Amino acid sequence: MAKKYTMIINLAKCIGCQACTVACKFQNNVPDGKFRTKTPANELKGTYPNVSLYFVKEACQMCQKAPCVSVCPTKASYYNEDGVVLVDEDKCVGCLYCMTACPYDARFLNKETGAVDKCTFCYELKVSKGEKPACVSTCVGGALIFGDLNDPLSQASQFLAKHKGEVRKPELGTHPGVYYIYEGVVK
Ligand code: SF4
Ligand code: SF4
Ligand code: SF4
Repeated sequence: MAKKYTMIINLAKCIGCQACTVACKFQNNVPDGKFRTKTPANELKGTYPNVSLYFVKEACQMCQKAPCVSVCPTKASYYNEDGVVLVDEDKCVGCLYCMTACPYDARFLNKETGAVDKCTFCYELKVSKGEKPACVSTCVGGALIFGDLNDPLSQASQFLAKHKGEVRKPELGTHPGVYYIYEGVVK
């Protein structure tokens, strides 16, 4: 059965250390000045003494109705057999339509490959071999959970059954496959 991979980001556990950012850059040979993922601080929320500063990991949201896939004229942007949105470098002509269409600012032009680049969930290098994405393996705070939502026994399925997962910009109808847990942070 095909997988339905997700990443869950538990914001209350993220300490903003950027280990995920660095691990991703090394794992995927991301060029200087570009990022497949980063984890910036959100603005300070609340009123003293009930204040909250939290960090929100950003990357491709692995939309199930992805605008980047539907606008791509060469089918370079596509869903693989497990529903992961990927880019075929050989088919990408660098038109940048997908970068304009992505509402999450998740893509960049990789000048070293000449193709558009973004988070892949480390699909080919790690996940297809039964390993976790580099950011998840390295997460110091234990804030990242990766797994298959088609497997009811996976850690991801079990976690989402108990905690309210929210997606970014749900009003756009892109149906992201990445979930954020805001429990324990002042939004
Ligand atoms: Fe495509 Fe952007 Fe959605 Fe990722 S976040 S699947 S790049 S539209
Ligand atoms: Fe498709 Fe590449 Fe154009 Fe993006 S830049 S829409 S991946 S051909
Ligand atoms: Fe947050 Fe984990 Fe990334 Fe550190 S490695 S910034 S704790 S998600």
